[in-house]
Amino acid sequence: MGVRRQPVAPDLARDGAAAPERPGRAEAEAAVRTLLRWAGDDPLREGLAGTPERVVRAYEEFFAGYGQDPVEILQRTFEETGGYDEMVLLRDIRFESHCEHHMAPIIGVAHVAYLPKTRVVGISKLARIVEVYARRLQIQEKMTAQIANTIDAVLQPHGVAVVIEATHQCMTTRGVHKPGTSMVTSRMLGVFRDDPKTRREFLGMIGK
Ligand SMILES: [Zn+2]
Repeated sequence: MGVRRQPVAPDLARDGAAAPERPGRAEAEAAVRTLLRWAGDDPLREGLAGTPERVVRAYEEFFAGYGQDPVEILQRTFEETGGYDEMVLLRDIRFESHCEHHMAPIIGVAHVAYLPKTRVVGISKLARIVEVYARRLQIQEKMTAQIANTIDAVLQPHGVAVVIEATHQCMTTRGVHKPGTSMVTSRMLGVFRDDPKTRREFLGMIGK
């Protein structure tokens, strides 16, 4: 049972941190008015009057993850584990994200497990890590790796497993129009990668 240490690449932990300076709110609202005109509508008509402001507020919520540090969230750990040396699993963590190619919603669930070595973290923190990465522009593969790598780097457990199942609205509502399809991605580190028994136990617990 080899243990693999894999440091979080800085770009995985905090993408967006090196982004160019943010525009002001008025500039963002003007951009929404441009898109409304591009869609073929009149941003000045009554029904659309408040739309740019609402869209910008929605973006603040959708993309709140850029202002949050996932490493900091995981840093408060408990070392008193009472000898607990089994898997910790949080499954069916529902999330909403947006794809970085179309800015269309990605909606799904994440299953996150780790096998603690010395440090455990409050269970809600695992859900918050998923939230932080979901609330950024994503591709599912990257999000899966970011969650696993960050938990691995901060908690330094025997292993981490992350499975994400999600539907991509850029695929279900446009393009190839394939409703009902979902994408499954996984990242296994440490014992979840090296020990088939541990991996099987995890996959069994999430019903795979
Ligand atoms: Zn897309």
